[in-house]
Amino acid sequence: MIPIGSVATDSPAYSAGIRSGDSLVELNGKLPTDILDYYFLADDAQIHCVTVKPSGDSSHEYWIQKEIGEPLGLHFSEVVFDNVTECANHCRFCFVDQMPKDLRQTLYVKDDDYRLSMLWGNFITLTNLGHDEIDRIIEQRFSPLYVSLHATDLDVYSDLVRPGKGAAQPFDVLESLLEAELSVHIQIVLCAGFNDGVVLSRTLHDLTVGRFSEVQSVGIVPAGVTRFSPPKSGIRPFRPDEASVVIEQVHAFAKHEKVFLADEFYLLKGDRIPIDAEYQDYPQLENGIGIARQFIDGFRRELQGMSANNSAAVVTLVTGELISSVMNSLIGEFNLKTGANVRVIAVHNQFFGGNVGVAPLLTGQDIMGALSGASGRVLIPDNIFNTDGLTLDGFRIENITDSKNMELIAAPVDGSEFAEFLLRCTAA
Ligand code: SF4
Repeated sequence: MIPIGSVATDSPAYSAGIRSGDSLVELNGKLPTDILDYYFLADDAQIHCVTVKPSGDSSHEYWIQKEIGEPLGLHFSEVVFDNVTECANHCRFCFVDQMPKDLRQTLYVKDDDYRLSMLWGNFITLTNLGHDEIDRIIEQRFSPLYVSLHATDLDVYSDLVRPGKGAAQPFDVLESLLEAELSVHIQIVLCAGFNDGVVLSRTLHDLTVGRFSEVQSVGIVPAGVTRFSPPKSGIRPFRPDEASVVIEQVHAFAKHEKVFLADEFYLLKGDRIPIDAEYQDYPQLENGIGIARQFIDGFRRELQGMSANNSAAVVTLVTGELISSVMNSLIGEFNLKTGANVRVIAVHNQFFGGNVGVAPLLTGQDIMGALSGASGRVLIPDNIFNTDGLTLDGFRIENITDSKNMELIAAPVDGSEFAEFLLRCTAA
């Protein structure tokens, strides 16, 4: 049974008498397994639907006539009605395995579910797909899909991903998806000493002109390394000189206009972030690639229309270490243009260890430490909080300080929204 969250009041389902709180038992002869299955089954002109009321009394049957493609009108709180499929791999670089114990249970879910790839852009490995699922993906045109494929050399791939027994051969599955003309975006998690160097060149060759040349885009991100990384994993952070080599290597494939490198490599080397045109239409945003460029351009666009606001208020901006040079430079431009007095605090990530410098992984306890002695208005990026308003280590924004002299505010992370927000915070 699937609980029905709500029913659109102008829909065929509502007219037939189905209401929020009822549970779906059958739809055209089947219980959908996920929202995509529901859309597929609910697409027909003739609908046979069985539900039960919240009281759990006898089932109710409905025969509904509607147009093909007309929404039936049911809404659900979950997108996957059976269990989210988890991975059966043991990747050396797995970030879930590098988190401390006792955080929220949801942070330990190793989802590897093709449905969430299609719906939310989650990366999947293809190693847990059976024939039925591959057939469904192809028949129902699940596209685009986001696939992690860290190397096209099978030995290197197997050594990095360490798939469980009976795993599907991901290269064969990928070939089937591409032959079926589905749109596939690739992620390479780059691990120093494992899949960089000649292995990376070979992988990029295969993904641009070789066996998998039909993929839509390729994004290369560095493996995150925390202080909880299992010692035997062999994974370590990239050094700036190695980031430099990766940048050159990847630029050799720039003419294909589909290979993109994570911001971290440029920031680690101290290089400029590529210009907007180099990101094409940002096909790897799901992978975080291009976010820095979009932020910079959005911020500067908004800044152009601003003038001095004559405020003497001091505003503090919290950010991660990696992006702090970019933020310092943008805030310098903002202060100059508006006459404001905004300063940037780059928070060292003690929680995960100093190798994790991105802002979204900042924790409440590290921010609290960095703000000791601060006062006035303090802006904290809102993407460090989940939908329940909690940081990774369980802080709500109001718990990050007990100082009466500080006002903590969650700030938007879109560049132009942030610039406009900053202007209001400094003017008020
Ligand atoms: S596929 Fe690898 S990285 Fe992803 S959750 Fe599983 S073990 Fe971790």
